[in-house]
Amino acid sequence: MENQSLKEIQLQLSRGKISVLEIVANYLKKIESTKDLNIYVNVFKDEAIEKAKALDQKYKDTPEQMGRLFGMVISIKDVICYKDHPVTAASKMLSGFESMYSSTAVERLLKEDAIIIGTTNCDEFAMGSSNEHSYYGPTKNADAPEYIPGGSSGGAAVSVQAGTCSIALGSDTGGSVRQPASFCNVIGMKPTYGRISRHGLIAYASSFDQIGLIGTVTEDMALVLEVISGSDEYDSTVSRNPVPGFYQNIDIDQKMKVGVLNSFFEHSRMNAEIKIKSKAVLESLQEAGHELVPLDFKSIDYLVPCYYVLTTAEASSNLSRYDGVKYGHRAQNITDLESLYKRSRTEGFGMEVKRRIMLGTFVLSSGYYDAYFEKAQKIRKIVKDEIDGLFSKVDVIALPTSMDYPWRIGDENQDPVSVYLSDVFTVIANLCGIPALSYPLGYGSENMSSGIQLMSNSFEEHHLFNLSALLQNMA
Ligand code: GLN
Repeated sequence: MENQSLKEIQLQLSRGKISVLEIVANYLKKIESTKDLNIYVNVFKDEAIEKAKALDQKYKDTPEQMGRLFGMVISIKDVICYKDHPVTAASKMLSGFESMYSSTAVERLLKEDAIIIGTTNCDEFAMGSSNEHSYYGPTKNADAPEYIPGGSSGGAAVSVQAGTCSIALGSDTGGSVRQPASFCNVIGMKPTYGRISRHGLIAYASSFDQIGLIGTVTEDMALVLEVISGSDEYDSTVSRNPVPGFYQNIDIDQKMKVGVLNSFFEHSRMNAEIKIKSKAVLESLQEAGHELVPLDFKSIDYLVPCYYVLTTAEASSNLSRYDGVKYGHRAQNITDLESLYKRSRTEGFGMEVKRRIMLGTFVLSSGYYDAYFEKAQKIRKIVKDEIDGLFSKVDVIALPTSMDYPWRIGDENQDPVSVYLSDVFTVIANLCGIPALSYPLGYGSENMSSGIQLMSNSFEEHHLFNLSALLQNMA
């Protein structure tokens, strides 16, 4: 069922060949049989069954009133709030916490009759590239369980890869939707910054965070993006631009100028096979009538340092709210306030989160602010200007999603800097706020997968959907 489009599923529903209850039961069975992969933090089993029954009844009674996502089953990353359901950011800090309100994205999904089946595992507070930094232990790659699925939305990617739902919502601050999607052989998409409201998304770095989508059918992803995008009184940074009909307007015949970012394909740590496979995809686009334009990118070496200075700074500020007083983990047997803060945070946060809070506090501290934080902000502007320049020549920019295949669980855990450096391909879209989509390259010689990444200018997601649908058609 997992590769069927929603359109096909809705056709079967209309012919009475299948019911929503059967769809949900199938997914729940799959969740049960893939338990060892550690995909979900919480499964809303009984509730999903009840909702499915209610939707089947609603369809019988008032078929003309069905929402656009009728028949769709969605997982949400454990950083997305759903009223009266647990949300923990995969952290001990929030274990046992329940959302008091729903994120705007979740509300809009429910309004269109989607079913939310559970929350997926991730790196704690979305900080990581491997899903190894979760309070609940690592999620495993369904193709090779001894390997990471990528991160931080690792559970989200595997929830789709293993066929436990049709679409997963993740979050992408520096690649967390695209990189795990590429490692799990599925499509991952981060829209323009501000396309989707961040209301109810647990903050990591607010000027970078964006909800993203993981799926296997381009059309379904376009439809879901259409449903959850758009202005929202609860998020002052969300765009008021009208939301285009992403789904209806998919046009695989649109011819584009596709810039090929050679500086990334020629990166010293670039895996040779991923490079060959990506280039083959680009050639197939050329054969389909697209024009390839070679491009270079001068600021490549500044991307990762700039990203880590700014995101850790924002994180140190965002995570200051977890103090043991208002909500979240509270240390026991404490008599003074300062020890309460210290002990609660020491006990509640994991290693990687602490490392980033300390880094962020350092780059913001007086004496270092100008040298790090302010300089990084200037560099972000330089990077954006360079990207703007490239988009005056092309419609879409292509580069790999990752420099290598997934690693074995535990292998790179000891060297954070090497893992940070591997984010070079994905952070560029977040630094510039532009949309990007990772399309799967299929399996390589070691039976591992990776992706090719397509970026467009802000609010031009339609270019990405058109190319993704074309590649899907050519497969
Ligand atoms: N790997 C990146 C990081 O660790 C991206 C995380 C994200 O997008 N949430 O910050």
